[in-house]
Amino acid sequence: MMVIGIDLGTTNSAVGYVDGDEARIIPNDRGARLTPSVVAITEKGEILVGDSAKNQAVIHSERTLSHVKRRMGEAVHLRLGARRLLPEEVSSEILRKLKTDAETYLGTEVKKAVITVPANFGDAQRKATIEAGRLAGLEVLRILNEPTAAALSYAWRHPDAERLAVYDLGGGTFDVTCLQKNGTDYQVRSSCGENQLGGLDFDSLLREELLKHFESEYGFVALSDSLVLQQISEMVERAKIELSSRESAAIALPFMGTGGQPLHLSYEARRDRFDQLIEPMIERTFALTLQAIEESGFSKVDALVLAGGSSRIPLVHRRLGELLGLKPSGGVNPDEVVALGAALYGSMLAEGQRFNGSGRRRLRDVTSYTLGVEIDNGKVAHLVRRNTPLPVDARRIVTTVADMQESVEVHVLQGEGPDVQSNRSLGRFMLSGITPARRGAARIEVSFLIDEDGIVRVAAVDTKSGRREHVTVRPVKDEQQEDARAISHRLESLSLRIRSDIEELSVPHELLSDIRELLQYSDKVRASGEESALREAEIALESIIEELISIREDLEGSSREHA
Ligand code: AMP
Repeated sequence: MMVIGIDLGTTNSAVGYVDGDEARIIPNDRGARLTPSVVAITEKGEILVGDSAKNQAVIHSERTLSHVKRRMGEAVHLRLGARRLLPEEVSSEILRKLKTDAETYLGTEVKKAVITVPANFGDAQRKATIEAGRLAGLEVLRILNEPTAAALSYAWRHPDAERLAVYDLGGGTFDVTCLQKNGTDYQVRSSCGENQLGGLDFDSLLREELLKHFESEYGFVALSDSLVLQQISEMVERAKIELSSRESAAIALPFMGTGGQPLHLSYEARRDRFDQLIEPMIERTFALTLQAIEESGFSKVDALVLAGGSSRIPLVHRRLGELLGLKPSGGVNPDEVVALGAALYGSMLAEGQRFNGSGRRRLRDVTSYTLGVEIDNGKVAHLVRRNTPLPVDARRIVTTVADMQESVEVHVLQGEGPDVQSNRSLGRFMLSGITPARRGAARIEVSFLIDEDGIVRVAAVDTKSGRREHVTVRPVKDEQQEDARAISHRLESLSLRIRSDIEELSVPHELLSDIRELLQYSDKVRASGEESALREAEIALESIIEELISIREDLEGSSREHA
């Protein structure tokens, strides 16, 4: 049974397989080892994925979707040309391409896969990933955490390393994981991270800096033209990558028209300034790294494994080395290590089926959340602590607080705090039909089951009557992660979409000036970073998008009528 391992990345994706005892990357149809996680649709309705989609992104931004991983698990329809797709439907196109490329390369049909996700992905995001696999014609044998995959890949080839720390900084997310290896047993000891921290944030910081420079130097703000903004974004990312091997990188935008003389804009990005800009974010990753090591109980780390493209930034290497007194391990390609680990895990699962479990390698991951239920007086009983090995089956008996009570409400909470206020509510459900009795006599068993994909099910059973209710809850990102930066990112992409729409649609005049005002306002709000204003601006821009969609639909309707 061939099982492929897929690293479905924010920026790029990779696919691996195991040949003998060795994991290898499968090149795509262009011979490249990474495939951009970009999906586009042509005028004729043909879907493009990867490099061909990325290459046309600047000129056809309205027909291109990238960074969809950041939206996984959200119930939103993303616009791809005239189509509206859920994030998992878009991701399924990427997976379908990876599957096809793997089949062509291996010369055999591929039906099963292990797909990786950030350790901090919640339930809804994991389910959306499984659904994306299903839509692509893949049976997803397991959802595996990315840093766990990276650790597995390293540990496989380095038998001496027993205690590993994986620092995984990609395009959109940061994760850190500590893994202990004991013979053929791989046990994750701790894991934490942030869902909205990565290379895209560094790009934004550098782009802001460049736009400020253009404004002060040329009195020119390029923000109003979406095509120029897209171009700038690409150049900024290229310059950022160059700064990992050089002290400075030039960005040039020749022939920028402002009505009069064409301007030749240029900017020299410098590594020392870039380091200053990203330092606060990098510091946050270090604080989480120290937290993960502390929670692992390791007295010492044997190997530090870097994963994710952004871990190549020299500041990260240098400071992380100083922080832990340990050089990052060599011989690891941070772009490939996750897909290789996923492939190895796929082969472990296949091997397990072949040998019926005897003497095989085992991998145990942990849950990233603390979950509990509300009990008396607004207090919380924690049933599952963060970093509990998966799968989890945690149970607790609760009871009634009034005589003859026939129903109880189960309030599911996420967080470490002792009372309801300091936790986050994930949902409530009623269990009714309880056998009436004195207060405190009923025995209701609440159970939390978390499977190896990290998906959570909560159930309550009245042990006397056998009545049972359950819910599937969605653990959410920690409060701090849904912060100003995340909303600011979404605002930025909403603004880009609106700018390209108003250029191409015939928007009524009055609406146009309102939209322009709103866009200017949202640019200001983005610069201020004020969270409640960001939320308001996001809602306002979303409603504009709705209006633009209906204008587009009207236009499409009338052009069909004319045809
Ligand atoms: P990943 O999500 O692992 O594919 O990482 C992609 C991110 O890594 C993108 O934001 C890239 O711009 C960034 N990246 C890739 N190579 C480098 C590099 N040499 N230096 C800095 N950032 C990089």
